[in-house]
Amino acid sequence: MSTIDVQNVQANLRLLRERIEAAGGSSVEIVAVTKTFGVDAIDAAVGSGITNIGENYAQECVAKLRDHPSPPTVHFIGHLQRNKIRKLAPIVDVWQTVDRVEVGLEISKRAPGAKVMVQVDISGEETKSGCDPAQAPSLVDSLVTDGLDVVGLMGIGPLGEPEMSRPGFRLLRSLVDELGLAECSMGMSGDLEVAVEEGSTMVRVGRALFGERPPKHV
Ligand SMILES: *Cc1c(COP(=O)(O)O)cnc(C)c1O
Repeated sequence: MSTIDVQNVQANLRLLRERIEAAGGSSVEIVAVTKTFGVDAIDAAVGSGITNIGENYAQECVAKLRDHPSPPTVHFIGHLQRNKIRKLAPIVDVWQTVDRVEVGLEISKRAPGAKVMVQVDISGEETKSGCDPAQAPSLVDSLVTDGLDVVGLMGIGPLGEPEMSRPGFRLLRSLVDELGLAECSMGMSGDLEVAVEEGSTMVRVGRALFGERPPKHV
């Protein structure tokens, strides 16, 4: 079990806000990524004034949030498997990683009208998920046709130097503008300055708030 110190999280949040501001971000939302941490991380984030939580793993997400007395706004940011959507539907508020038509269809069945984002592969790496940038407009169209509330696009920068994320972030932002969407979810602990400079509206931050993650054991 991880031990989370609320005062540490509060101090880290102040530093995080300073980083965002220094990069020119004025109204960037913070999603606290609590994967592999215990419920204490969720509670520390909420206690520090963060209202958005990000989780990656279906089983873990359900286990930690199903019986939570005052659940925050839950963003699912991990790879989405179609057969996990039914269980997640009562818990997830924003589905950030929709990358194919079948996943959107299943969400529209289990959570009609839900808020979704299209995950776009901006890494240029084989290992990352997300739809091809060229396919994002048609995927957005099909999700809207399914009755889903498409709020934006989401992308993950490549591993390595933060600067390597810039071309992909720029591409994602231009797609968001082209499609007239509100949210551009990009930037993590390591590359959030670059993301904010390129027009991120939402950063997803784990380690910069909670420290190194315990290993996954679900
Ligand atoms: C784990 C994860 C994050 C947070 O990463 P940190 O480096 O801990 O800030 C953000 N987005 C996604 C999709 C993740 O899987």
